[in-house]
Amino acid sequence: MRASVVLVPSPGRLAPLDYRLPADSGRVAPGTRVLVPLGTRRSMGVVVEVGEEAEGSAELRDVITVLDDAPVLDASLMRLVHWMADYYLSSLGEAFATALPGALRVDTERMVTLQDPAGAMDQLPALQQRILAALGQGECSAAALARRIGPGTTGGLRRLQQRGIVRVVERLRRETAPTRRLRFYEAALKVVDDDARLARRVALRAVYAYLRDHPLRRAPAHELRHSFVNAAAKLRELVAVGLVRVREEETYRTVLPPVAAVDRPVALTAAQQVAVDAVVGALGEGFAPWLLWGVTGSGKTEVYLRVVAALRARGRNALVLVPEISLTHQLVERMRARFGDAVAVLHSQLGVGERWDEWRRIARGEARIAIGARSAVFAPLRDLGVIIVDEEHDPAYKQTDGVHYHGRDVAVMRAKLAGCPLILGSATPSMESFFNARGGRYRLLELPERVEARPLPPVTLLDLRAAATQHTEPLSAALGAALVANQAAGGQSLLFLNRRGFANFLQCRACGDPLMCPNCSVTLTFHHKWRALRCHYCDHTVAPPARCASCGEPALQAWGIGTEQLETLLRTRLPGARVARMDRDTTRRKGSQEALLRAWSSGGLDVLIGTQMITKGHDVPGVTLVGVVHADASLNFPDFRAAERTFQLLTQVAGRAGRGERPGRVFVQTLQPQHYSLQSAAAHDFARFAEAELEARREVGYPPFARLVLLRAEGTDLAQVERLALDAARVLREAAGGRFTVLGPAPAPLERLRQRHRFQILLRGRNGAALRRSVADALPALRAAGRATDVRLIVDVDPYSML
Ligand code: ADP
Ligand code: ZN
Repeated sequence: MRASVVLVPSPGRLAPLDYRLPADSGRVAPGTRVLVPLGTRRSMGVVVEVGEEAEGSAELRDVITVLDDAPVLDASLMRLVHWMADYYLSSLGEAFATALPGALRVDTERMVTLQDPAGAMDQLPALQQRILAALGQGECSAAALARRIGPGTTGGLRRLQQRGIVRVVERLRRETAPTRRLRFYEAALKVVDDDARLARRVALRAVYAYLRDHPLRRAPAHELRHSFVNAAAKLRELVAVGLVRVREEETYRTVLPPVAAVDRPVALTAAQQVAVDAVVGALGEGFAPWLLWGVTGSGKTEVYLRVVAALRARGRNALVLVPEISLTHQLVERMRARFGDAVAVLHSQLGVGERWDEWRRIARGEARIAIGARSAVFAPLRDLGVIIVDEEHDPAYKQTDGVHYHGRDVAVMRAKLAGCPLILGSATPSMESFFNARGGRYRLLELPERVEARPLPPVTLLDLRAAATQHTEPLSAALGAALVANQAAGGQSLLFLNRRGFANFLQCRACGDPLMCPNCSVTLTFHHKWRALRCHYCDHTVAPPARCASCGEPALQAWGIGTEQLETLLRTRLPGARVARMDRDTTRRKGSQEALLRAWSSGGLDVLIGTQMITKGHDVPGVTLVGVVHADASLNFPDFRAAERTFQLLTQVAGRAGRGERPGRVFVQTLQPQHYSLQSAAAHDFARFAEAELEARREVGYPPFARLVLLRAEGTDLAQVERLALDAARVLREAAGGRFTVLGPAPAPLERLRQRHRFQILLRGRNGAALRRSVADALPALRAAGRATDVRLIVDVDPYSML
């Protein structure tokens, strides 16, 4: 039999390769992993097709090993991966690598060892000497050497190998900690003369009796170690005389602590009831996409829970996607409070082993509800009854490296392939989804009011233009006074500023030069706590210099305010208040974010300052004041979605206020109080915003009225990067034939990132399929040219960030 195999990962290779299956391998279905030879090396692959060997065709190489007894991806996930590679213009190998959990990846690496240290060292070319120096006495992977030495390593290694100075062997490598096994000891059955056998071993008798009388007749090693001195030696002896047997059993790692939330049964509001009835009524009737548009605090989660419960009653499974798991802790807790261990959680903060355990619980049907971030869209659920995408508008659903897929859009396709309903939930739907609902492609469900008729908080726009000329005080008089008053009244205040660090940048008062990152074209941010300047893109860190590097004057001054400085300011403004800050700098340690959120939810904090981390998800009844320090930061972003993003952020953060008994207030500081995004956010009027925004998008021809593909050339040699970008633009202009437009090439807004130059091309057209086909046709040649000159070509279909 012949198997077509896609190598994983295989960025460059688009077509599957044919191999012969070993005669004794039984039935091998598509979706099974195999190990195959490739040149002189081995590679993992996924079988995509099995068939007869064509007669008279070229001799096939044999598959080395079939790695799975049963496919790891079922037929519908296989179709999803094919679709993803096709749609996002990636190789099939990369698409499989994206969909498979890390623990199922088998990589090979080439290990280099020194064979003949006496080889005439000083007569070797410098590069080969450097390789040997880096290698030292030890063993090193060829990839690590290449990283350290740079271009030319492969050739150098080959020559060293030919001279017999080094040896290169290939080794299989897999991610650590796949399956955990628990060792336990079991009393042997049917032993009649146990006392006789133990007659002279009194010390062993107690251990044996413990196991024999144990309700399960067995106990894990750690339990015995706790109960007996020197347990290991005694157990060895008991095993030797045949009274005790050693057994191993697979166990799962504990991913989550026991459920903390209590499940309060609620009577649905009328709007919730309508939504639940509509979706439940459509269960089992094939693909049906719903947009659940419900204002903040309208009880969307309860709708999800009821739909999932209805499915469970019918024995079907559910997939729930959230933008970032740590920020949507409450949804996970509520799911677990209601459905217990049937819930499995998948996200990138779990270790490889933990994720692997959750993945198997789902694949085996032990967990029937999978909740997770983006990549959970590939969870191996069978019998899918519904897919729910919470906060469907959130940009975190977009993958920003490898296959640039959008979790929500892949979810839509998965629901289509599985033939099940799909719920996209949001208070601020994306323009794409809203447009689809308006055009009738999605069915619209509305929750227009908060539960228990709680009012949405009034939002006041504070015009900073007059005060801005002095440019000293980050808090206006009105917001400052509101904070003091809220503190006095015992309410909690949330302050949102989308910029971490102490000051945005240092700039020389004498010559005007700002302090830039040497690797990226951005300014360095000043962090007071570390007394350091740090790049927020590459983490480059330096001590603040005393003088300007350009003019030598000691005139460097800090400008702009970050969350760190705001925290300091608030501590002086609100003496006695319990103030905390939540941003990437205060949540680096595992669990620190949960601890902050717990303190915040339980009322243990008066003021929480933070970046967009604080804008979403949590439902804290004590929050009565929300302040947005600088709404213009996101509004002025060089991106066509800037107004939409700002509206979303403002609505989400405002939605944190007044969720409890006491009403809330919101203040938004801005230099553009007339902007329609701010005006409609202040009026809680999504429909008005959407109308204005869609009109603006239509005029300029941006999504959802057109499709975009972004191509970016990246490399260390500016001339080569520019050359490839120019070539790509020329080829695509010829291919376009008026069906789409080619903008650029132009330097990316972030011209340099981690020492790499970046040029981009934006393709825009009404017919997305035609656009993608033209790019797909042009890509192989462009990629080959890029590889020859060390320039990477990145393809982003439906881009979300154009920096
Ligand atoms: P959303 O996700 O739409 O912002 P949530 O699902 O977080 O809203 O619900 C907000 C709050 O209202 C939660 O505390 C939830 O327990 C509560 N809630 C939801 N539905 C009801 C209901 N029918 N009656 C009373 N309280 C409800
Ligand atoms: Zn940098």
